[in-house]
Amino acid sequence: MKLRYSYRLYPAPAQRAALARAFGCARVVFNDGLRIRQQAHAAGLPYPTDAELSARLTTAKATPERAWLGEVSAVVLQQALADLNAAYRNFFASLTGKRQGPKMGPPRFRSRKDHRQAARFTANARFKVLPNGKLRLPKIGDVPARWSRPLPSEPSSVTVIKDSAGRYFASFVIEAEPGILPEAEPAVGLDLGLTSFAVLSDGRKITAPRFLRRAEKKLRRRQRDLSRKQQGSRNRDKARVQVARAHARVGDARRAFHHQLSTALIRETQAVAVEDLAVTGLARTRLAKSVYDAGWSSFVNMLEYKARLYGRQFHRIGRFEPTSQMCSACGAKDGPKPLHVRSWQCQQCGMWLDRDINAAVNVAKAAGLAVTACGAQTRPGAMPRAPRSEAGTLPKPRREAA
Ligand SMILES: [Zn+2]
Repeated sequence: MKLRYSYRLYPAPAQRAALARAFGCARVVFNDGLRIRQQAHAAGLPYPTDAELSARLTTAKATPERAWLGEVSAVVLQQALADLNAAYRNFFASLTGKRQGPKMGPPRFRSRKDHRQAARFTANARFKVLPNGKLRLPKIGDVPARWSRPLPSEPSSVTVIKDSAGRYFASFVIEAEPGILPEAEPAVGLDLGLTSFAVLSDGRKITAPRFLRRAEKKLRRRQRDLSRKQQGSRNRDKARVQVARAHARVGDARRAFHHQLSTALIRETQAVAVEDLAVTGLARTRLAKSVYDAGWSSFVNMLEYKARLYGRQFHRIGRFEPTSQMCSACGAKDGPKPLHVRSWQCQQCGMWLDRDINAAVNVAKAAGLAVTACGAQTRPGAMPRAPRSEAGTLPKPRREAA
């Protein structure tokens, strides 16, 4: 299974200039190749093959107009063509229905104004992680890096990225070995929500950590500042950079939180069930903003790949299950309840139920997992407090005395 590992890079000014050249050359090669194919298509000529594009790149480098392509590693240029070929392959596969998921458009021209600039080096470009911790990139130099976690194995390629906040990253693709984890608790259902980030069928409620909430608050403030600045002013430019930085910080904090929580969940349970969020469907509704902000889909994807990596079960249940309308103890359906109703008593069996935990238990049951409904039980009027989870492990189950 292939996984991506990203690390922050701190290139010196001369290295930043060399990287800018590499990004620029990769972009030109990509765009040249795209233009050749578009022109051939418009003229009714056969589709230029990957090999033809590669040959034309070699001839172009010999011309005065494109001689400067020789200033960057040849591998970067080949990889730009490989990106173009992959984009075309995905597009064709999507057209013929061979590729699942949303329809892909044809490749588009890259712009120097794109928020993300990237160039890829493969192993035969002889990039190297040096003993002094720097990353050696051909024709760039030895770039200082922060290794936030060890690389688990020899990477086959590295993509150097500059994001919209002006930060540099090295992103490695690594073939990860399946891990072995000790046997754990049998199963847990998960209800993802807005009041708590996640509620577990055993009664635990997990809110986003404080550093993330703080970063989000700052981002909102910066966005408000930006909207008040005059169009085209210098102050607006400055505010835009600040928003990009705040965005990047929120993204980092959120990713860290999702990693921590998904790892803890997979470590502690044999099977995890979540509701299929069908985010694209929800996105059209009023909830859209909060859905994207909460980043549920990236969290669920992490859960899924970690489950696969460690041999745990992962279940997604369909949206049609009325998880919030059904009593998790006796299965009675008593219809939809407005959002402000946080707990209620089942008319059938008389149990008092916490809305979110009840939903989480129903998610687990819909996936065929054996969980008990006792976590969903609550005392009338008393709501369990959402514990703050700042640490690496999950909070211990909280059971309200019945
Ligand atoms: Zn009931």
